[in-house]
Amino acid sequence: MPKKFERKPKKKLSVDDYTKGILEGNRIILSQAITLIESTKTAHQEIAQQIIEQCLPHTNQSIRIGITGTPGVGKSTFIEALGNYLTDQERKLTVLAIDPSSQVSKGSILGDKTRMTNLSTNKNAFIRPSPAGNSLGGVARKTRETIILCEAAGYDTIIVETVGVGQSEIAVHSMVDFFLLLLLPGAGDELQGIKRGIVEMADLIAVNKADGDRITLAKQAKRSYKNALHLYPIKESKWTPKVLTCSALDNIGIGNIWKTIVEYQTHAKENDFFAYNRKRQAHYWLHESIQAQLKQRFYNDETIKNTLTSIEKSVNDNRISPFKAAQDLINSFLKR
Ligand code: GDP
Repeated sequence: MPKKFERKPKKKLSVDDYTKGILEGNRIILSQAITLIESTKTAHQEIAQQIIEQCLPHTNQSIRIGITGTPGVGKSTFIEALGNYLTDQERKLTVLAIDPSSQVSKGSILGDKTRMTNLSTNKNAFIRPSPAGNSLGGVARKTRETIILCEAAGYDTIIVETVGVGQSEIAVHSMVDFFLLLLLPGAGDELQGIKRGIVEMADLIAVNKADGDRITLAKQAKRSYKNALHLYPIKESKWTPKVLTCSALDNIGIGNIWKTIVEYQTHAKENDFFAYNRKRQAHYWLHESIQAQLKQRFYNDETIKNTLTSIEKSVNDNRISPFKAAQDLINSFLKR
């Protein structure tokens, strides 16, 4: 028997080895499989897809939570506080992120080792930085596939973090059961750069940094957000979004936020929205994947690659309309 932490020479794992390792909760193998998901190499992606397929029947009764808020609102401090609270309750937590800008900063959102220092050494928490990628769709797909592997590895609470500035919230919303928006005390939506659409997606708004001399301000913010939420349409889940205050730094109000998430889960399971929403999300990702794969195959086709430049020139010179040129190219691609 090898010693528990002995490093073994790296051997090539089969799809079955990966799946077995993941189902046993082996974090090293889980990490390696996620690296395959993130790889741009076709061979890696093929193995990754087989692993995902084998893991799919083993995904557990999880709750997937999206967390957003502008930089500095306290997301990582909050996730650390909530994460420690949950692992104390024997839950197993995964923290993932979607940051499409990470192609430039190489996964800045969670790549920074100083973030979540406590949680990152917690054996019941698995933290993975945002995958790099040149499109939000690609980054989001990889994160969604990673969720499946983490659930198969026994993680029952999935947190997907994103920066509260726009499109990436929609991507996160399409893969989570519950959406939490973190806000600061005092500032209005416009000041915080939060778009109406993001507030509309929230199942819970938590006014963070409700500590020290900000407590009164936080309470006021809570009241005004509560009033503002009345103006939003009733949610399809029939859940009335809640507004709470918390201090991630002082660990205040974290239990209350978790209680609300559990209440939501009970509510959405009772009225069947929970399962319906997950099915709808799977449907959405089916169509997203079809579009992405068609596009990839088209642009990777050798003949298309060879003719595209001259067609572009013809379009530039007004010799052919963009619509007709696209039609001709697609027709020639489909005939092969
Ligand atoms: P992120 O960019 O949203 O991930 O924000 P961070 O978690 O990195 O926090 C930004 C700053 O706000 C840090 O200096 C934190 O210590 C501070 N912070 C986070 N949560 C709280 C809180 O509840 N109260 C106070 N007073 N400061 C906080």
